[in-house]
Amino acid sequence: MSKRQVAMVMDLNKCIGCQTCTVACKTLWTRREGMEHMLWNTVNTQPGAGTPHGFESMGGGFRDGVAQPGQRPSVEDFGKAWNFNHEEVFFGGKGEISLAADGGKHGKGPNWDEDQGGGEFPNSHYFYLPRICNHCTHPACLEACPRKAISKREDNGIVLIDEDRCKGYRFCQEACPYKKIYYNEVEEVSQKCIFCFPRIDEGVTTACSRQCPGRVRFVGYLDDPEGPIWKFVTKHKVALPLHAEYGTQPNVFYVPPLSPPKIDDEGNPTDEPRIPTEYLVSLFGNGVHDALKTLERERERNKRGEKSELMDLLIARKWLDMFGPFQKHPRDAARNRPIPQNQQKPRAPQQQVSEIRFYTKEEFKKGGRA
Ligand code: SF4
Ligand code: SF4
Repeated sequence: MSKRQVAMVMDLNKCIGCQTCTVACKTLWTRREGMEHMLWNTVNTQPGAGTPHGFESMGGGFRDGVAQPGQRPSVEDFGKAWNFNHEEVFFGGKGEISLAADGGKHGKGPNWDEDQGGGEFPNSHYFYLPRICNHCTHPACLEACPRKAISKREDNGIVLIDEDRCKGYRFCQEACPYKKIYYNEVEEVSQKCIFCFPRIDEGVTTACSRQCPGRVRFVGYLDDPEGPIWKFVTKHKVALPLHAEYGTQPNVFYVPPLSPPKIDDEGNPTDEPRIPTEYLVSLFGNGVHDALKTLERERERNKRGEKSELMDLLIARKWLDMFGPFQKHPRDAARNRPIPQNQQKPRAPQQQVSEIRFYTKEEFKKGGRA
């Protein structure tokens, strides 16, 4: 058990599916060889198959405390990127290339069913579900590793893989019910979201949360009564874990999406929400009923001009308040850490930010420990 747990809350009412978070993460962490297919952050359309394809039925996790068998997702299940000539496809009459990566000759892409959603017109619906590793309190990946290569940091609960200890057995991939571990075939090690620990250690929030234009992602400690996470999860109870039944106690929580009313056969609005509540319950559990009621009640209160702490928090007028104790600018944090002498070289001022290292490669691979 870690002394503290860093956590994330994502407000699904605000995600616009722009994938800025995905790109921010990809650019920062997964550019090494063998990482081409890795998207430690994914954003999928729900209802949908998700990434990896069909992950919700791949098994793993715990039932009544007992580890469950799980499937190991392949690179194809995660979806491969592929090249095509935009000019020819869009304007040159050579549109035979499937941009949907629908399982045809290009296989599946990571977002193969993007924006398809569910329901029949006029009641079609969808929302976006961003996912990272949940840095679980009871991580199935950690328990499954015979090399003890996976650990949970005591100071903040971030789950990390020690790449020097990992021998690439991939039991962690089978055990994780969220299928959030990737395998690097070049380096022969498993790799995953690191909750941007080199930034967190310096008081800087994660790249995905800082870059998100929708102000979707809140970051902080689970037990901090002054921070946003505790208020959403414990005080107002509007943020819920995804598939809590997997038994790993995830530390990423979601504010479920509200939706417009369903339309009846005469074209009139009904009392039912467009996104079926049963579907949301299947993802986030029975807490969805109360969470949606609380959100609606507080929204009405706001409309009447009354004060609502919950709505003020969700609106996030002051952007930096979303990040609890992790509000520092990356540039300022990096300045605090002296660059080792053997890495120092003269550089133009505009190059400085991109060249800054928070950790040496060895420290990084050990999760911040020298
Ligand atoms: S989401 Fe999966 S990889 Fe991440 S800590 Fe939980 S079990 Fe491990
Ligand atoms: S950057 Fe924010 S709004 Fe865009 S897809 Fe990611 S979570 Fe959603």
